[in-house]
Amino acid sequence: MAAAPSPSAVPTVPGSPPPPAPAPVPSPTRLLDVRTVFAEPAALDSARGRDVLARFPGVEIVEVPSHWQIPELNGNEGNVERWVRVKTETLVLGVKKSLSARPNSRSSNWIAPSTANGCAMACAYCYVPRRKGFANPITVFTNIEQITGYLRRHVARQGVKTEPDQCDPVSWVYDIGENSDCSVDALVSDNVADLVATFRELPTAKASFATKYVNRELLDLDPQGRTRIRFSLMPDADSKVIDVRTSRIAERVAAVDDFVEAGYEVHLNLSPVVLREGWEADWADLLRRLDDTLSPAAKAQAAAEVIMLTHNRDLHEVNLGWHPKAEDLLWRPDLQQPKRSQNGQWNVRYRNDVKRAGVERLQELIAHHAPWLRVRYAF
Ligand code: SF4
Repeated sequence: MAAAPSPSAVPTVPGSPPPPAPAPVPSPTRLLDVRTVFAEPAALDSARGRDVLARFPGVEIVEVPSHWQIPELNGNEGNVERWVRVKTETLVLGVKKSLSARPNSRSSNWIAPSTANGCAMACAYCYVPRRKGFANPITVFTNIEQITGYLRRHVARQGVKTEPDQCDPVSWVYDIGENSDCSVDALVSDNVADLVATFRELPTAKASFATKYVNRELLDLDPQGRTRIRFSLMPDADSKVIDVRTSRIAERVAAVDDFVEAGYEVHLNLSPVVLREGWEADWADLLRRLDDTLSPAAKAQAAAEVIMLTHNRDLHEVNLGWHPKAEDLLWRPDLQQPKRSQNGQWNVRYRNDVKRAGVERLQELIAHHAPWLRVRYAF
């Protein structure tokens, strides 16, 4: 992780006011101070598994039959201190058994097989914990060569994209971070570096992932335009309450130009959009800030996806136990309607009329304050 320059290292012009202090960079050790690695034996035996262990010398290793069945890590729904400790101090190594790319239509054409799941961060609206329990630390899949081999073959089978779509005019887009945050995964293993290197050699396809963490080590990966990072943004007033353990919004905005310069395509993931008193003014501020600070090069290639908040009744109950302030923003029965999801859970989303009006208003704000920002989709 590149260190932020200390304020004294920033040159000053005599007589000019001192430059603002750089935005604080969250320390990787605040996110990850690994003490225990639960590992499937095959993962332990793999080259990638050994690489991960070499990054965390002295950890306790606990062999487990499956990365899905680790009673010590599951549950603890109401005890966030315990989750955060588990997320900070624990990693899991596993082998991804079934490899398949799922068709998708919004953020990407395909969801790539995961190279990780779980997250060291703890956003109050996150759907990632729902499958493994709330104290879901990062699970790294160590069979990266099988996964990248599968992806190469899958990309080859698609041939050239003949019809532009909103995902991309010419490339097949593969989301590589559906179940984790790749920027943090890259602190743990070279899986993300291997994916970036794989897509660098695939002229008909592009990797893509959304992130809430600024990992400047990624700037060295030379993606040559074949990886799209989607920095997630929302007004800082919302982010301070509902994004937990992430990089601050100012730091994400400040990273955009650097990632464009390093060869990434950088899009903006404007989500989740939370409707509350004052939301329009705060989104307008954020959009003006983007307009004021992003370089012409960043603006020329930018696009955005807009996603209104979806929440979940079970998550609401859990959050009430540790972060009720977040629920003041996320749980709005006066504005929301329930919808049963495919897995039988009760999700809530803004009522159709409320959502439609919110989407339209945000698009108007974008057109007014950041007219260069093309909206790929909004829902
Ligand atoms: S960063 Fe993403 S994956 Fe991690 S907790 Fe937040 S929403 Fe979930």
